[in-house]
Amino acid sequence: MRVVDTGAAGFLGSHLTERLVNEGHKVIGLDNFITGSADNIAHLAGNKNFKFIEQDVTEYIYLPGEIDWVFHLACPASPEDYLKFPIKTLKVGSLGSHKTLGLAKAKGAGFLLASSSEVYGDPKEHPQTEKYWGHVNTVGPRGVYDETKRFGEALTMAYHRSHKVDTRIARIFNSYGPRMKAGDGRVVPNFVNQAISGLDLTVYGDGSQTRSFCYVSDTVDGLYRLMRSGYCNPVNIGNPKEMTINEFAGKVLEVTGSKSRLINSPLPVNDPKVRQPDITLAREKLGWEPKISLDEGLKKTIEYFT
Ligand code: UDP
Repeated sequence: MRVVDTGAAGFLGSHLTERLVNEGHKVIGLDNFITGSADNIAHLAGNKNFKFIEQDVTEYIYLPGEIDWVFHLACPASPEDYLKFPIKTLKVGSLGSHKTLGLAKAKGAGFLLASSSEVYGDPKEHPQTEKYWGHVNTVGPRGVYDETKRFGEALTMAYHRSHKVDTRIARIFNSYGPRMKAGDGRVVPNFVNQAISGLDLTVYGDGSQTRSFCYVSDTVDGLYRLMRSGYCNPVNIGNPKEMTINEFAGKVLEVTGSKSRLINSPLPVNDPKVRQPDITLAREKLGWEPKISLDEGLKKTIEYFT
C-alpha cells in the first residue's frame, strides 16, 4: 500500500510510520514539527519505503500518484502543548481533517482519524463505551482539544455519508512509550523523568483521578487493525486497566526504584476525574486487545529516558 500519515514525526505518528514501513508499505510522512521532532524519524532517513515532507496539513496537500490509505494523526496531544497552541490545535482537527479527507476522497483512499477519549470530556458514564456522547466544556481551556477531535469525527462521518469515503475513527486513550517528549507535561514523561532524577513527583489535585495507560505498540496495532477492518463507526483503542494517579505514581517509584516523594499541585481546569475504555467493540471487530503490561511498558519507557 502507498500510505500517507500526518504527524509522522510525533510520538504516536513515528511509531505508526515504523510499523507501516516494517509491514512493507510505502509511507509518506507529513509533519510541521510544531510538537513533533525530526529525531523521532531520523532512523528512517534513507529507507526506500519512507519519504518525509515538511507540511502544515491545514494547508492544501499536493501529492501526485496513487494513495491507498491516509492516517490523520497530526495534533498537539499533551494538555500543556494544546494550551500553548490552542488555535493551531483547533485548526488541525478542523482544517487539517478537511484537507486530509479531501486527499482521501480525491485518491479513493481509506481514511483513519486519530480521535481521542477526550471526546467523552469529564465523563458521566464509566467506563466509556462508543455509544456515550460525552460531557465537554466547549469554552474551557481543554475545549480546544476536545472540540477539534469532535469536529474531526463529525467531518469524517460527513465525508463517509456524503462522499462515500471509506473512513475509520479511533478514539485513542492515554498512550505512552519511548519518544514522548521529556518536557511535554503529560503524566508519564513527567513522573518517569522526575523519578529518575530524584525530583518530587508532581501529583495534580489529590491524585484520586483515574487514567488507563496503553503502551504505544498496542495502540499502533489497534490503529493498523482498524484501518484494515471494514468498520466505519468510532472504536475505542486503549488499555482497560484503570488506576488512580496516586497508584500510577507508586508504580513509577516501584519500577524505577526511586526514593522521590509525591507532592500535590493544583488540578488543571476540567481535568477528567475518571477515564477507562470499554474495549468490547475493538475485541469483537478488530480481534484486538492490549498485550503489554504496565510494568513491561514502563521499563521500556524508562530505558528510553535514561
Ligand atoms: N498529572 C499529574 N501530574 C503531572 C502531569 C499530569 O498528576 O505531572 C495528572 C493530570 O492532571 C491528569 C493525569 O495525570 O489527571 C493524566 O494527565 P496527562 O496530561 O498525561 O493526560 P490527560 O489524560 O489529562 O489528557
